[in-house]
Amino acid sequence: MTKVVIFPGATALVAAKLEKLGLTCQADLVLHLPLRFEDETRITPIAEAVPGEAAQFEVTVVSSEIAYRPRRQLVCRTEDDTGTLLLRFLNFYPSQQKVLQPGARLRVFGEPRGGFWGSELIHPRFRVLHGEEPLATALTPVYPTTSGLGQGTLRRLIERALSEVDLGETLPEELVNRFHLEDFAASLRSLHAPQPGLSADELVAAQRPAWQRIAFDELLAQQISLRQSYAARRARGAPVLAGNGTLTHRLLTQLPFKLTGAQQRVWQEIAHDLAEPHPMQRLLQGDVGSGKTVLAALAMLQAVEAGYQAALMAPTEILAEQHYRKLAAWLAPLGLEVVWLSGSQKKKDKAAALEKVGAGGTALVVGTHALIEEGVEFARLGLAIVDEQHRFGVRQRLALKQKGLHSHQLAMSATPIPRTLAMSYYADLDVSVLDELPPGRTAVVTKLVGDKRRDEIVERVRALCREGQQVYWVCPLIEESETLQLKTAEETYAHLRAELPELRIGLVHGRLKTDEKVAVMAAFVRNEIHLLVATTVIEVGVDVPNASLMVIEHAERFGLAQLHQLRGRVGRGAAESACVLLYAQPLSETARARLKIIYENNDGFEIARQDLHLRGPGEFIGARQSGLPLLRFADLEDTLLVDAARAAAEELLTRWPEHAERHLARWLGGRAELLKA
Ligand code: ADP
Ligand code: MG
Repeated sequence: MTKVVIFPGATALVAAKLEKLGLTCQADLVLHLPLRFEDETRITPIAEAVPGEAAQFEVTVVSSEIAYRPRRQLVCRTEDDTGTLLLRFLNFYPSQQKVLQPGARLRVFGEPRGGFWGSELIHPRFRVLHGEEPLATALTPVYPTTSGLGQGTLRRLIERALSEVDLGETLPEELVNRFHLEDFAASLRSLHAPQPGLSADELVAAQRPAWQRIAFDELLAQQISLRQSYAARRARGAPVLAGNGTLTHRLLTQLPFKLTGAQQRVWQEIAHDLAEPHPMQRLLQGDVGSGKTVLAALAMLQAVEAGYQAALMAPTEILAEQHYRKLAAWLAPLGLEVVWLSGSQKKKDKAAALEKVGAGGTALVVGTHALIEEGVEFARLGLAIVDEQHRFGVRQRLALKQKGLHSHQLAMSATPIPRTLAMSYYADLDVSVLDELPPGRTAVVTKLVGDKRRDEIVERVRALCREGQQVYWVCPLIEESETLQLKTAEETYAHLRAELPELRIGLVHGRLKTDEKVAVMAAFVRNEIHLLVATTVIEVGVDVPNASLMVIEHAERFGLAQLHQLRGRVGRGAAESACVLLYAQPLSETARARLKIIYENNDGFEIARQDLHLRGPGEFIGARQSGLPLLRFADLEDTLLVDAARAAAEELLTRWPEHAERHLARWLGGRAELLKA
């Protein structure tokens, strides 16, 4: 359904630009809030100009000429009764030059800076005065815009929208009072057109209640919409996977370890959901090494007990293969076959696998995204598990959703999502957290080492491998070019082989054929390779307990989540483990901040929290891609407000559903339909 886009007073061209800003109807305009204000309500005498503080001046042009040093520019000398002010234009039209004639009177707005000749303005906004012109009576808002859409046009349309759009209260009085909310319409007026004459600090203070109200409303709309989709899902049916405990019990007794307390708790949560008549949609979060795989296996067995099929999908061949091996080893003693399905599989093998899956005789399937491709038909899929779900793209997640519309779903992730973010973006999921590591793990010691000391590290690798330990060497990440990255990996491999001729060294990267990758990994697992040179293909899931050192070259190029994942590959056995982050100088400020965080923290949740702080929620979860509207105003670090909005959403939906609908319509506008799709 395409909605007719109507903006009274806007041409089709302007309407198109507005749409680019995410504005789809006139009502959206009132929620398009200013970035800042310019004060054109008063004139500042030149003598009182403060460098760095934007101000308006009223001046007379004294001279105007084109200078050629340091580059071509129009330099206009102006004055008022108190001093002189230089205007510089690096790009200018002949028409501008023409109006800036000696004697012309101007109102100029800009940020003064101290130049060699006194105060000057670079590229100021100016207007030629003809006679007496009144000053602005309100502050001038500056709105986020896009190229080709002027501030003047935006201001005019928004002003009009403010007087034409219904700004009535969407919330019942009881909630407005309980949460101490500012009136909605008054909040908008204060945000678009605050009272003039306030200092910057006073303005912030004056607008605080209004911002608070808008942030609350935005969070509330998000909570309502997520709760609705949660309810819609629960209204769908799913097979009841009650299970009788026979298989799960046998797996548990046969494992070489006991479940941790956290694993037991989460297992109860999952087992309970599977036995419900509507689809489970659960996110299992657990730091690297917290033991998620065994929970996946247990869940799959419960599905099998109930006579259904279960699938486990992993984002890389290496990880999928590893799951396949682990599951096959665990389940063979139980007399169960596990089917392997991957994109690079031989045609004949794949056809055989597909047939088994389609016939329904085989209950357990493990693979890559080949699992959700067209042509894969499950006879009786009861449970779909996605490991490292954040690594899959939107398209794949959607495909899986469609395939398993009426099956239970479990997503697992080792990239912890801070609590507020989870509550806000994943409020339509149930979340389980594994907040305990299996016993006997030693914390990984992290070292930051400048790359000038690379030789020392190479010696350390030599010594460790002589003692029978194993080492990962992670090659620099080159995001712009996969080819370059490959070349670098091969060079690193060649270097290390020359430096450490007595060691057996392997190389694994994304371009290797699957069986080659698998062969290298298998050799590493069997301890036939001492040193594994690798790209980030080993980032997720790889589990080789005997590896006790990881060296990451050019660590400054990696993201925090990536570094934490990589570091999680060591410290899985009894030996004391270390992670060496080699970095090259000079470090950018954010790179330095990242390295400091990873150096100081071992807890994935804390790292994620700081990462969120560093990057903001949009980049953090890639929400733009996920199709969920980004929060524009609310700050997810404001836990109190998120909590309040969550409580209010629940109450609104049960006690005042029609208010909830109105509120949603205001905030999501045309997007409300999109989200329900
Ligand atoms: P992740 O959560 O990162 O996927 P894994 O499932 O790969 O973690 O588990 C990491 C390692 O810990 C594996 O070798 C696994 O067999 C082992 N493990 C899992 N649970 C326990 C436990 N309760 N006690 C001891 N070891 C465990
Ligand atoms: Mg895992």
